[in-house]
Amino acid sequence: MIYSSTASYSTNSAAAVQFGKRVVLFDAPEGIQHSLMHYKVSLGKISTIFVSHLHMDHVAGLVPLLTSMNTRALHTRVTVIGPKGIKELMDVYCRLTFSDFAPSLQVLEMEEGVSLTHPISESCTLTTHTLTHAVPSFAAVLRVKGRAAIDIERLKTAGFPIGPLCGDLIKLGRVTVNGREYIHSDYTQTNRDRKVVFCGDCCWDTAVPEHRAALVQDAMDCDLLIHEATFGRDMAARAPGMGHSTPSMAGCASKAMQARCMVMTHISNRYLQGLERDVPAEPTSEGGDNTKYSKYEPLFLSGKCFDAVFVTSDTVQHGCGIPGDSPLSQFIPDALEAGAQAVCLARAGLKVAFS
Ligand SMILES: [Zn+2]
Ligand SMILES: [Zn+2]
Repeated sequence: MIYSSTASYSTNSAAAVQFGKRVVLFDAPEGIQHSLMHYKVSLGKISTIFVSHLHMDHVAGLVPLLTSMNTRALHTRVTVIGPKGIKELMDVYCRLTFSDFAPSLQVLEMEEGVSLTHPISESCTLTTHTLTHAVPSFAAVLRVKGRAAIDIERLKTAGFPIGPLCGDLIKLGRVTVNGREYIHSDYTQTNRDRKVVFCGDCCWDTAVPEHRAALVQDAMDCDLLIHEATFGRDMAARAPGMGHSTPSMAGCASKAMQARCMVMTHISNRYLQGLERDVPAEPTSEGGDNTKYSKYEPLFLSGKCFDAVFVTSDTVQHGCGIPGDSPLSQFIPDALEAGAQAVCLARAGLKVAFS
């Protein structure tokens, strides 16, 4: 998910999931391009943009982003998946602002109660599900098949000189070093499949049972669930009427899906007053070993560590500087109490990258 540094409201959030050379972007709030730049996400890598619903804090940055991609002649084939009406929104905006999109742009519209599966590549699919919110809102389940990758540690242990010769090993299939022959297939491992679930704005408690069941079934055992928690326990009675979730509801969603990790986002500004902000943290380098927290700023879940981003309430409480008397300090405990396995908070967004 990506921190939107120009956003005046912290609820402006988006998620960028990067795998291999592709990026799937979930939601496009105002300022998304700045965030993408900040996190060094190349616009040319974006292959799919999923817009969960048509509220402005999720879609205001879409057309500027697409026109920018077109202006820079990024001719990658891009697919936008959004609720019914998104085509009209894009057409009107384009017509009135004399803008153009790439001719290869594909737009798919979602309808409530209808699940849509979009093949992003041979190894990756995105399936949509219906949520319950003030307006039609959707979730997406992103599946990425594990790829075969060279096992550097095993090669090292076997005495192979790590460096340019690795390239030869991949290219040629076998390399002889000091009289010993190394065969590529002996040192490859296939990364396991990954599943990331992104839920747009929604109230988990009041979801239509069959919609919720279908989502849970599809999302089961996901590596990461990104779920909103707009309101704290003080607003639990009012949250359903506004189509939003509390940490406890998000925790129930996480438990139902048996998510390995959940990130709660879209937190109402009312809980963020007085917290330091607007100094986006430098993301850790890709493949780094740690999830970096800077105060209560964006998270970067990266490469190898993606499996290990299991955050306890202690880590977040201590690492993010949430004052103990802030209602926000209850967010993590509430979600854990509801049955979530591991939880962290993202003020406005984070980038998720895995190999
Ligand atoms: Zn929203
Ligand atoms: Zn909304």
